Amino acid sequence: MDYPGNLFVVAAPSGAGKSSLVKALMELDSAIQPAVSHTTRPPRGQEKHGREYFFLSPEEFDGMVQRDAFLEWANVHGHRYGTSRQTIEERVAHGADVILEIDFQGAINIKRIFANAVLIFILPPSWEELRSRLQRRGEDSAEVIELRLKNAATEMAQAREFDFVIINELFERAVFDLKTIVHAQRLKFSAQRRARAETFEALQIP
Ligand code: 5GP
Repeated sequence: MDYPGNLFVVAAPSGAGKSSLVKALMELDSAIQPAVSHTTRPPRGQEKHGREYFFLSPEEFDGMVQRDAFLEWANVHGHRYGTSRQTIEERVAHGADVILEIDFQGAINIKRIFANAVLIFILPPSWEELRSRLQRRGEDSAEVIELRLKNAATEMAQAREFDFVIINELFERAVFDLKTIVHAQRLKFSAQRRARAETFEALQIP
């Protein structure tokens, strides 16, 4: 499927800084639309239904699976998460640039459906830094941190499946890298021909 909009899919092991990077990108680029996923995990803190996630009961989630309403869904850390097919397809078909923040299995599954999806993997600069970020976050017990680090090893081994890699060492630099990837997609021939149709016509470029 070749849609006029871009679908950016960002994945990372937990603690690599994925959410902060995507948030910073959206503050700089109002044309990028976040896609809100569905999940069976309960809301945390200030999270609101329809903003961070659509929070569903297991039965509601099953219903969506049965209706084939998900482009992909996965079990992550004991809860189910899914990307709505309709919201993504409609928006990208209308030329919107959409960004998805999902786990690495989901990202690889999306690429099978949307061959043009742009897969971006965020890496920490080192194991030591990943460990100390997870510890600083103060959200998890020592055992959970060890589990997250073990999962991170499995996930990072899949990094070659991704189109782009950003090493989140210096935050500002990583935001710049993410912006550059988005910008480069918009400079591709087909995107420019659509966005600057009059210029192309005037220059008689077929
Ligand atoms: P959290 O519960 O911390 O918000 O998210 C846990 C993990 O699930 C994160 O890696 C997040 O990116 C991932 N995730 C969120 N939404 C989706 C989704 O729709 N599909 C998949 N496969 N993973 C998701």
